[in-house]
Amino acid sequence: MSRRTTRTSVSFAAAALLGGIAAFSAPSAVAVGEGPSCCTNGTVNTSILHTYDSMVAELKTQAAKQPRMELEVIGQTVKGRDIHLVKYLSDPANPTILYLTQQHGNEQLTTEGTLEFIKSLGTGKNGGVLDGVNILIVPMLNADGAMGDVDFSLDDYVAAGDRHLTRYNAAGVDLNRDHVAKAQPETQALHDSVLSAYDIDYAVDLHHQGTTSRAGGELVSGSILHPTNGDVSPETLAGSKRLGAVVYNAIQPTGWGHLGRYVGGSERTIARNGLAAEYGISTLLFEMRGMSDHENESAVLGQKSNGYLIRQTVVTLTSTASAIADGSIDTVDASFWDTLPAQRS
Ligand SMILES: [Zn+2]
Repeated sequence: MSRRTTRTSVSFAAAALLGGIAAFSAPSAVAVGEGPSCCTNGTVNTSILHTYDSMVAELKTQAAKQPRMELEVIGQTVKGRDIHLVKYLSDPANPTILYLTQQHGNEQLTTEGTLEFIKSLGTGKNGGVLDGVNILIVPMLNADGAMGDVDFSLDDYVAAGDRHLTRYNAAGVDLNRDHVAKAQPETQALHDSVLSAYDIDYAVDLHHQGTTSRAGGELVSGSILHPTNGDVSPETLAGSKRLGAVVYNAIQPTGWGHLGRYVGGSERTIARNGLAAEYGISTLLFEMRGMSDHENESAVLGQKSNGYLIRQTVVTLTSTASAIADGSIDTVDASFWDTLPAQRS
């Protein structure tokens, strides 16, 4: 690890202590894609990320503070870690959205942003949204992978710090290809205790992708896609496209955000397709730029980008919850999908 990387992690930690993500000012009028790139700016030092234990501690702190928040254990991972569901169920008559993070354990900034969002729901600034929408959140579904507590070697993984993070669960299975078989305990818990148990209208499945994709010639801050499986009803697909429009309208004008269309498959094993086909949930996949750890160095983005990538998650969650709560999602123009450029590496 270079000295430069060390200094960066120290300043990140200091800034985090001073004021969380607000301490990271997004560079104005500079797309996130033009920020630090993968292989010349160091890797992520994973000690600045929440551990599974520190995430659970934060969830418990928030549940104790926030009268409207409930915390439930819905199952255990392969290695026996409790899987948590955060619930804000204000009114059964309200529409319901599910936010899901870290099916892939090495894609953690989505969870960091989601924790900021949960904290914001306990404040006057954002708490009002709960009058109009029920919110379900499953953070860090793949906790074993996020902690590198797996039954296969991570010797080639590039991140610095006190742990590695991996895409697969402890048994080496990709949870986001397990939504038909539901063979893994993490996927079973999600389907049995969340997807089958609540009447969910919308879901955002949060991921990270590699660092090199471009759309319209510019590096992207992320990519999005609606379901593309033929079993999904036209109504569900239309809702998915509107959900994407809310996100696009919130991210694209920021100056740091630039979105492309994700190029993905149509299999029902993937949450984006499977949840829409099986439950009629309008889904959106959001892939943020750069992973927290990987065996391929080019997939990992230097941590100087963490501030606005975390912000991208917060904006995504805040804008979608708000648009569902005030009903504006029902009339948003989703025609941008017709011209959204597909990203290319
Ligand atoms: Zn992923």
